[in-house]
Amino acid sequence: MPNGYNGKILRVNLSNRSTQVEEQGENFYRTYLGGRGIVAYYLLKELERGVDPLGPDNKVIFAAGLLAGAPVAGACRSSVGAKSPLTGAYGDAEAGGFWAVELKRAGYDAIIIEGQSKKPVYLWIHDGGVEIRDAGHLWGKPTLDVQKVLLKEVEDHRARVAQIGPGGERLVRYACVVHDLHHFAGRTGIGAVMGAKKLRAVVVRGSKLPPMAERDRVKAIARWFADNVQTLSGQFQKYGTGATVSDLNTLGGLPTRNFREGTFERADDLSGETMLNTILVDRRACYACPVRCKRVVEVKGGPYPVSAEYGGAEYETLAALGSNCGIGDLAAVSWANQLCAAHGLDTISTGAAIAFAMECAENGLLSDDQLQGLDLGFGNATAMVQLVQMIGERRGLGDLLAEGVQRAAEAIGGDAARYALHVKGQEVPMHEPRIKHGLGLGYAVSPTGADHVHNLHDTAFAQEGRGLNGVQALGVLEPLPVTDLSPAKVRLFVYRTMWMHAINSISMCLFVPFNYDQVVELVRGVTGWNTTVWELLKVGERTINMMQAFNVREGFGPGDDKLPDRFFTSLPDGMMQGVSINRGTFEKALERYYQMMSWDEDTGAPKDYKLEELGIGWVSDELRKR
Ligand code: SF4
Repeated sequence: MPNGYNGKILRVNLSNRSTQVEEQGENFYRTYLGGRGIVAYYLLKELERGVDPLGPDNKVIFAAGLLAGAPVAGACRSSVGAKSPLTGAYGDAEAGGFWAVELKRAGYDAIIIEGQSKKPVYLWIHDGGVEIRDAGHLWGKPTLDVQKVLLKEVEDHRARVAQIGPGGERLVRYACVVHDLHHFAGRTGIGAVMGAKKLRAVVVRGSKLPPMAERDRVKAIARWFADNVQTLSGQFQKYGTGATVSDLNTLGGLPTRNFREGTFERADDLSGETMLNTILVDRRACYACPVRCKRVVEVKGGPYPVSAEYGGAEYETLAALGSNCGIGDLAAVSWANQLCAAHGLDTISTGAAIAFAMECAENGLLSDDQLQGLDLGFGNATAMVQLVQMIGERRGLGDLLAEGVQRAAEAIGGDAARYALHVKGQEVPMHEPRIKHGLGLGYAVSPTGADHVHNLHDTAFAQEGRGLNGVQALGVLEPLPVTDLSPAKVRLFVYRTMWMHAINSISMCLFVPFNYDQVVELVRGVTGWNTTVWELLKVGERTINMMQAFNVREGFGPGDDKLPDRFFTSLPDGMMQGVSINRGTFEKALERYYQMMSWDEDTGAPKDYKLEELGIGWVSDELRKR
């Protein structure tokens, strides 16, 4: 068994209630690492082409990151993936917290869940043991109630819970997986896949982490970070991810009223500073992290009585349910955040779906029958909160919006598709691509649909600083403007996104600013491998290619790599007023990306020689099944 791993993967079949433990050797782990790398491997290897995302033949795969459990900030994440019911493409999402570490303690690196249970169940995995338990009494209950009942039932308050909410049970296509109430694997609708399998939760607990090769190497980096946390992460520590609201607003990059504008007149009311000074009651950390950027807020009384037990809104939520819906009432946004957590809904897609509906309503596209008395203008906090509830319950207009904006626009008809901002069916996250053109390219080509995590944030590479210093070691020597989409930017994009995919397999938190060499040092310390940046970049490249191959096998092609039209029009306000993405330049960048990735420009399929160079020639066989 390699250091850092248990060498064991648990397979659970919910149809026949069987379990099985499979062992993988060191070369498997060194090739795919963990997290997304392992999820992508199994989804591509084991799913049949054309499988129904909500049927018994889809599989849910949880995989802890390579570093999960190492005593260092940010080493806490896991991926959960399946064929996405939102996009019909490869789907996965990541979450931090403590769950991944506990899975490793419980004796497993990953869990493959297949089949479909007839009755609601949950999994209880503890020190190698596995039980499939009845969850009939939990079905339909909010996540907080279920969390409490589960910890009682397993008689261990230190067990960790990954669960879906009633939204996942009702197959909301962007239902998420909620980890211990505070950490969310938000995107691509994996919660709905669990709901279709009648799997309410996976509860884990264990007593022993796998051995580490050289603990002192890991500890040295942990110490360096702890000593410098104020300088490196002081803003996040104090204000959380909401620290970015004000800066983005000044730039004109705070998504406002369904991305029609980039500045919001009530941005200050949503900022991290305002949260700190009004409703913040505590801060929380993930495993071994001194940053403690997670917010805990409380609102007593009034129409939006927010409980501290659900934590607090992150930046994405503040923008999605706040500025992007034209709402500057922090209590209302925090309440909507709590509703999303209780129902198990991705806040980005939920907010985006509501903003879409608001713009449709404004343009007279929703009938009285659909509106059922809702006054759905931008800025109406009461209507926004009502709609979150209705989406979670799949009631009225909420039932339509629970399908995601792409399907909802098709059903509404007329001009509705113009207001449905998505890529491959996944709603656009709260980062404005007109102020970061490389990010726009990333939205378009992301195998999971629009995503801001495994993407390039151009601002970090537009001037001297930590971001540029990092990529200089990869050979990108000059800063590149945020609006650049030249071949030089595409090259930076290729290198950077390979790294981000590797990070999703190593599973480090992106807010902990380790440089490339420090991440390599951590991997060496945990595994004992004499690894390099180059080897880890290749893992990232391998992962993108497996995800891309999955999508090509499902019938996706270059025509699906596109951006909503809105981003080719000028930003109306802010410091970058008048800036748009030039369509011709964007198309050329797309073409260059395909060439640099060695993907067929007509089909999007990775070339055989590229797959062979990556050591995953078996992927060519999967591509031949299309
Ligand atoms: S920086 Fe924040 S999100 Fe990241 S590991 Fe630390 S507490 Fe968790």
